[in-house]
Amino acid sequence: MAGYREFYRRSIEDPAGFWGEQASLIDWHKPWTRVLDYSRPPFARWFVGGETNLCHNAVDRHLAARGGQPALIYVSTEVDEQKIYTFRELHTEVNRVAAMLRSLGVSKGDRVLIYMPTIPEAIFAMLATVRIGAIHSVVFGGFAAASLAARIDDAQPKVMITADAGMRMGKAIRYKPLVDEALRLSRSPPRNVVIFDRRIDRSISRSPGRDLDYAELHARHMDAQVPVVWLESNEPSYILYTSGTTGRAKGVQRDTGGHAVGLVASMKYVYDARPGETYWATSDIGWVVGHSYIVYGPLLNGMASVVYEGVPVRPDPAIWWKIVHEHKVTVMFSSPTAIRVLKKQDPAYLRKYDVSNLRYLFLAGEPLDESTHRWIADALGRPVIDHYWQTETGWPILAGMPGIEKTPVKYGSPSFPVFGYDLKLLRESDAAEAAPGEKAVVAIEPPLPPGCMTTVWGDDERFVNTYFTSFRDKLVYSTFDWGMRDEQGYHYILGRTDDVINVAGHRLGTREIEEAVQAHPNIAEVAVVGVADSLKGQLPLAFAVVKDGSRIATPEACAAHEKEVMETVDKQLGAIARPARVLFVTLLPKTRSGKLLRRAIQALAEGRDPGDLTSIEDPGALEQIRAAIAGLRKE
Ligand code: AMP
Repeated sequence: MAGYREFYRRSIEDPAGFWGEQASLIDWHKPWTRVLDYSRPPFARWFVGGETNLCHNAVDRHLAARGGQPALIYVSTEVDEQKIYTFRELHTEVNRVAAMLRSLGVSKGDRVLIYMPTIPEAIFAMLATVRIGAIHSVVFGGFAAASLAARIDDAQPKVMITADAGMRMGKAIRYKPLVDEALRLSRSPPRNVVIFDRRIDRSISRSPGRDLDYAELHARHMDAQVPVVWLESNEPSYILYTSGTTGRAKGVQRDTGGHAVGLVASMKYVYDARPGETYWATSDIGWVVGHSYIVYGPLLNGMASVVYEGVPVRPDPAIWWKIVHEHKVTVMFSSPTAIRVLKKQDPAYLRKYDVSNLRYLFLAGEPLDESTHRWIADALGRPVIDHYWQTETGWPILAGMPGIEKTPVKYGSPSFPVFGYDLKLLRESDAAEAAPGEKAVVAIEPPLPPGCMTTVWGDDERFVNTYFTSFRDKLVYSTFDWGMRDEQGYHYILGRTDDVINVAGHRLGTREIEEAVQAHPNIAEVAVVGVADSLKGQLPLAFAVVKDGSRIATPEACAAHEKEVMETVDKQLGAIARPARVLFVTLLPKTRSGKLLRRAIQALAEGRDPGDLTSIEDPGALEQIRAAIAGLRKE
């Protein structure tokens, strides 16, 4: 491991020297004066005084050497469409959208909210926004009106770009009614909404003056050339909301120069991905994986990126490997849940296409169990690498790094700390470093490396209070994950330390779901916990106390009421957050000081021992949970 060890050691012991060298992987309009300014911990400022632009580095920079090579390979199995954009064509489109945004008054520092499916136009919008020095906030298309409204109010965008609809499993998800409702709920709606009409939803309404047609605006700017706006390295490039322990999503803010350098270094050393090749992340642009590895990482690295709208099993379970084969994907990134979906299918589908061009399949987002890891590695005959990171960091924290050294895989472990991350496993009780084999909090000694979140949008105090106050006398970043290291230095992730759950690789706050359930007028109180699921990792399960018991007096009424509550969650948060079941009880287990005993509920739901219950207010509440679970098992 000498190669990795030395590389890592240098990144920690000499961050300025190390990152100063990595920074030459991108173009700078003006060189920085200092690699790192850490005079105001825990706020890190990377490449101070340097000026650059993400769009220039992702697009313009490649025109001379690879203008005619593919940049985006759009494949939609939902609308049966395929289209390739070369770097030159991407440049043209981005200039047009940049001109559109300018004509709507968007300039440096303004926010543009993008609520779109994973289609090229969404990526044009992201790149156009950063081209003109504005800040994008992409909201996942599965989020419902109330969540969208909360994000609008926090980001206060000048313009919003959306589409008529997204598609999933052949079903249209109409965006416009959600957008209209969100704008009605919002306190600071944007002046204009640009609608890209895919002609999926033929019934979209337009509000005159506010709503504008993408195609019409586009036609006005066919020959546009919009110069890039050079930004100081630390100026923001985007905001991406993520769930935490409170009901209010946090806007993860990322900078410009550090963001580009962190990502391009990860492409080279973590993914071993090379310019001119094809990279494919099977995520959605609404998540961090989409931002980092559908859009910025591959393009910054001069690669073609597959932009896929679809699921792994339609039109048949060989579709992914067909794409890998046809487009010569060399590095692929997906999630354990997607692989578990494929595992249920006939393995012959995996052998239908020659995938020998695929160097690695990386998986992240949730724990990768050994059986899934073995199954996909054997079926593909290609290396499968587990790696671990979070929205906040924007790129991997723990990984096998074949770009530096090919280290052996240990099942169940995302391997080693990635360069730049001074990773510590700290005992919860006294913040001391844990011994091998001891379960501890996964923490990062600041400064966080380039590319990580720089603050919570509009709320520096929340950034510090949320992430850096887990230990009383120690300023360290908490990942809110439990972890462990073995004698050989392999790391293991052992679940969250907080009330966040992970459903199919998507992070959901149990409090957020509880608030959505409580939006139903007949719900007095509710506890949501995550329970283990063999396909999706975890599923949310709700235990609710109703105000008017007559509404659940019969089994039929109960089922109807449960459905209504689920629909409320769909409307408030989105169907991704819908509890698998809502079980009605008359009492919830709480401590004498009124704190919900979520861990005990979760343990019971998973058939485990609920642990120490001396602080419980009323043991009868636990009996109700037990009975509700027993009822579930019988069904
Ligand atoms: P998100 O910010 O939505 O990507 O979620 C990040 C969280 O997902 C982490 O804090 C972990 O709890 C979990 N996670 C991500 N990757 C892995 C992995 N490879 N193994 C275990 N848990 C993971």
